[in-house]
Amino acid sequence: MSTIQDTPQQDSVVAVSKIQEIKNRYGDLDIVSMVHQFLTSENTESQKQRVDQGRLGKFYPSSVGRCKRAVVYQLLGYPTKAIPGQNLLVMENGTGFHNRMEDIFEKMGILIAPELSLKDEDLRISGRSDAIIWNYLLPEGEEDGEEIVLYDPKDKDKEVYRGPVNHILIVEFKSIKNKNYGKLPKTKPKKEHEMQLQLYFYLTGIRRGIVYYENKDTQESKFYIVEYNQQLVDQVISDIKEVLDYADRRELPEKEGNALDIMCRYCDFRNLCHTPISDEEWLEIYLKDEEEAA
Ligand code: SF4
Repeated sequence: MSTIQDTPQQDSVVAVSKIQEIKNRYGDLDIVSMVHQFLTSENTESQKQRVDQGRLGKFYPSSVGRCKRAVVYQLLGYPTKAIPGQNLLVMENGTGFHNRMEDIFEKMGILIAPELSLKDEDLRISGRSDAIIWNYLLPEGEEDGEEIVLYDPKDKDKEVYRGPVNHILIVEFKSIKNKNYGKLPKTKPKKEHEMQLQLYFYLTGIRRGIVYYENKDTQESKFYIVEYNQQLVDQVISDIKEVLDYADRRELPEKEGNALDIMCRYCDFRNLCHTPISDEEWLEIYLKDEEEAA
């Protein structure tokens, strides 16, 4: 008899303390601000952990084409400003797009692996690419290319592919705003994305790939085939070595933009390069830009 009465009593105590805990944590914030605050503090904590665990000095392939000064700031572990929760939601949307496409490719039967390990000691790269798929473009009768072996980023000993290089394609997914989608070049992807693929070619041995764009507002999609290009590979390697040299000398490259340029407006290090502005002011600029883009 007592068990039936005690349980709700106990649950109610737990619930009240849980609610108090939430109130202590979020104060008077509304639910949207609570979400933003949670995401910002979670991101700040994971950045802090990166620094604490000494995970600095790595070059991320997604930094290809980014302002060199920003890359050197990141390599040297300069503190970034807290990233507003709304921006983090935008990034999560991008990740959601990747996962969605990888699921679809898997169900279509074209996916080999959703991601690949990317490593290069000299270039201080330790990361992962997007998907690899079967090369549906392979011309009939084409001879097998050289054998390559690719690994799972979560388990460095687990092979995800061993076979001819020309039987596979590497795919880079990009989710972009309507405004930028409309500005995509006719025959090639954006330069920085083409260069990112050239870096993947260099690191994996793969020789052909696709940049697959989705308009995040309308879900329209476009793709570009990218072929290995030795000249572009040389350029991307030399650009990476240049930023690593700057970081080793603990020097910063010149600023590549001014405070009002888009690249600086969205840069995590803008407060180090330009007159610092508060998160509120920054968010105002961000929202204004979003409205203009709509
Ligand atoms: S604020 Fe501008 S110049 Fe400075 S690191 Fe960022 S993008 Fe480069």
